[in-house]
Amino acid sequence: MVNDVTPERLRRLSEPREDVTVLSLYLDLDPSHLSTPPARESAVDSVLADARRAVEDRDLGHEARAGLREALGELDRRLRPSAGMQADGARGLAAFAGVDGSHEIELLRLPAPVPTQVAVDRAAHVEPLIAMAARDRWCVALVNRQAARFHLGDEWALEQTGALDDDVHGRHQQGGWSQRNHEGSIEEEVAHHLDRVARALHVAHVQRGLFGRLLLGAPKELRGALEAALHPDTRAVLAGWVDVDQSAAGADAVRQAAAAAIAEHRAAHRRAALDRLQAGVGSDGGHGVHGLPGVLQALHERRVEVLLLHDGVHRPGGRCPRCGLVSLDAGAPCPADGSALEPIADAVEAGIALAYQQDAEVLVLSEEPRLQTLGGAGAVLRF
Ligand SMILES: [Zn+2]
Repeated sequence: MVNDVTPERLRRLSEPREDVTVLSLYLDLDPSHLSTPPARESAVDSVLADARRAVEDRDLGHEARAGLREALGELDRRLRPSAGMQADGARGLAAFAGVDGSHEIELLRLPAPVPTQVAVDRAAHVEPLIAMAARDRWCVALVNRQAARFHLGDEWALEQTGALDDDVHGRHQQGGWSQRNHEGSIEEEVAHHLDRVARALHVAHVQRGLFGRLLLGAPKELRGALEAALHPDTRAVLAGWVDVDQSAAGADAVRQAAAAAIAEHRAAHRRAALDRLQAGVGSDGGHGVHGLPGVLQALHERRVEVLLLHDGVHRPGGRCPRCGLVSLDAGAPCPADGSALEPIADAVEAGIALAYQQDAEVLVLSEEPRLQTLGGAGAVLRF
């Protein structure tokens, strides 16, 4: 599956720049409701009409408006299926114009559907992309008695990047009185093979930094020996086992088998972050704040380690052009330096940009009652 979203890209897109107005446009390409070219064509019509309205309704300078109008003409040409839009199996598209002031269009193919929407703001709106920006790089190693295959990636795409084949002789080739010795030598050779697999994983993980989480697939009778052969540093990132028949499985079957384990790992990570948030807001002087005003204040003080947002939480606000403070009250002067705030369409998006600037992790959760009762926004604090 195709995925153009990376954490680095989100960080760059969300960064506010002086005198820049950005158009963000999301197009749902979910095949379950946009299966025919006419359906897609009319979805493009409708989102472009929304985008034109958003550009005309905003209070923009002459140059910014002209630039965005030009970008919309270009999007009209590029998004239409009749114009041969190459989505390469993407389930959604994100398009940004004006990010660096040039009005060049940046088009991202998305591995999951997104709600169709547009925004015109002082920076790109990236919240719908956050769940698609894999933070962990995964290795799935499929190992049997004589071969191993290594896949690298995430739940959206796991490409085979290497293989090992050790010459272990088949049992069936000999019998009779020599069987016992022969089996002994096979077990030794299998052990040698598992050691080679473990070494390859160690080099890829520790020396080359190619992955941070590991899933293994192996026949049940080999699992104990394989796990025991791993270097302790590699064993420490083992997240579980997958059931895949390695001789038959293509890259997509491997991805599907791994996706459930990766999703469970992600869910556990989110639960742990929510636990920390609840513990932090539930105690005096605890390392947690909740509700947008408190969260924006903590972001301004650069104290945020993890920003938790419920999807669908958006508020207009203002940003101080001098110190970058983001507030829900665009009418009041900056409480830090008295400057007049610039209005922004979404203070939550501006908060996400601040979070990335302080290397905070950003988690966007859906249907999470624990976060909803905390006002849909919370932050685990570093201090
Ligand atoms: Zn200020």
